[in-house]
Amino acid sequence: MKTIGLIGGMSWESSLLYYQIINETVKARLGGLHSAQCLLWSFDFAEIEALQAAGDWDQATRQMIAAARRLERGGADCLVICTNTMHKMAGDVQAAVDLPLIHIADATAAHVRAAGIDRIALLGTRYTMEQDFYKGRLIEHYGLDVLIPDAAGIPVVHDIIYDELVVGVVKDDSRRRYQQVIDALAQRGAQGVILGCTEITMLIKPDDSPLPVFDTTYLHAVAAVDWALAADS
Ligand code: GLU
Repeated sequence: MKTIGLIGGMSWESSLLYYQIINETVKARLGGLHSAQCLLWSFDFAEIEALQAAGDWDQATRQMIAAARRLERGGADCLVICTNTMHKMAGDVQAAVDLPLIHIADATAAHVRAAGIDRIALLGTRYTMEQDFYKGRLIEHYGLDVLIPDAAGIPVVHDIIYDELVVGVVKDDSRRRYQQVIDALAQRGAQGVILGCTEITMLIKPDDSPLPVFDTTYLHAVAAVDWALAADS
């Protein structure tokens, strides 16, 4: 088995899920006492969030590259950035190390396509929903038609992530507000919804959604295990 290098702490609430899913998947595949071989670099999210909010993406990129190099020096065989938003600098991170980076949008889009979906809704941070680094990859590499919430829905989705989910707060009222946003996207023709922030899975389970959900945390973590086991054989 190869060693999975995780860049986490964004937030640690979702890094915990990655660690759990990766280990459960290795156990299910290999049985017995098997568990995942992995390294985790975990940021202080307050520092990262401050850079995001200030729009200081250059400094955030330097921090991400430093984390990737730490994992490379530590012996990781691949890199997994445990957040959708920080895939904004995935290209720069990939260029700075000799390890393959397992991209969260690729892991997700493959499943969206396999489900026969052409028109997909995307929920995530404001950065992920509004900027091109994520949507663009879905459109250009996978030919998907990507819908994001309207101007009223975007702050609802974004604020619940930063005010509640990244600090482990899960509220029924916030779930209802997300459901309203997903309903509106379904009415605009979305056939499924990407939970494009690694904490949304704490709030929205498949049964909570009127549309099929694509949980990026789960799909990305399993893609990492697929790679770690396949690369070994
Ligand atoms: N974990 C979140 C995501 O997947 C948001 C936290 C962050 O900004 O990295 O985008």
